[in-house]
Amino acid sequence: MLRVGVTGGIGSGKTTVCKVFESLGVPVYYADAEAKKLYAENTQLQFDLVTAFGDTIIQNGEVHKPTLLKLAFGSKETSAALNAIVHPFVFAHYEQWCVEHDSFAYTVKEAAILFESGSYRHLHAVVGVLAPEALRVARSVVRDNSTEAEVRARMEKQMSQEELARRCGYLINNDGQQSLLKQVLAIHEQLLLLAQQPSNFLS
Ligand code: ATP
Repeated sequence: MLRVGVTGGIGSGKTTVCKVFESLGVPVYYADAEAKKLYAENTQLQFDLVTAFGDTIIQNGEVHKPTLLKLAFGSKETSAALNAIVHPFVFAHYEQWCVEHDSFAYTVKEAAILFESGSYRHLHAVVGVLAPEALRVARSVVRDNSTEAEVRARMEKQMSQEELARRCGYLINNDGQQSLLKQVLAIHEQLLLLAQQPSNFLS
């Protein structure tokens, strides 16, 4: 089974693109949503986080993400400690999900960070979703009910569109002008062909 990543900056339309893949029958793993579920449900993960960060991170029986992130982002060391605890859980969960979907020609993993986290190394191809900055800001402001400044601050911490375009093997332009369905269909056809040639796999 070919493993494909879909990534892009804030408001670029990753989830929207993934819904189109799903409509073609392709299973999609939404990494952020799955990580959220793990925080809520995985008691071993909760135990490891409490051991590292103290029990103030548990509120109403659940990991309180804002408190955890505040503690973790205090220094480079604590931030690295958080990643070192969480990543193996998410990684193992995704691996198990892949085993469960092994009968498909290919599956998609949607994640805001694939290159930064290094998880692209476990994928055979990556689709980058691009959109003009102004449109990404406008879409995010409406969707998240945030201010333009908040969206731009998050955007600045992300990989540039140029770098993303350079690193992705496939690109989708979600500028609201070109048909998403047409673009996804074209990539879908290419991925089905690639999936028939395991010798093209990167790993
Ligand atoms: P984030 O990383 O910020 O969660 P994302 O890259 O997953 O965002 P989406 O959630 O797919 O982006 O899209 C952001 C918002 O823009 C959503 O409200 C979505 O409905 C809207 N949107 C995305 N693409 C289009 C489009 N082609 N036409 C109209 N609205 C769109």
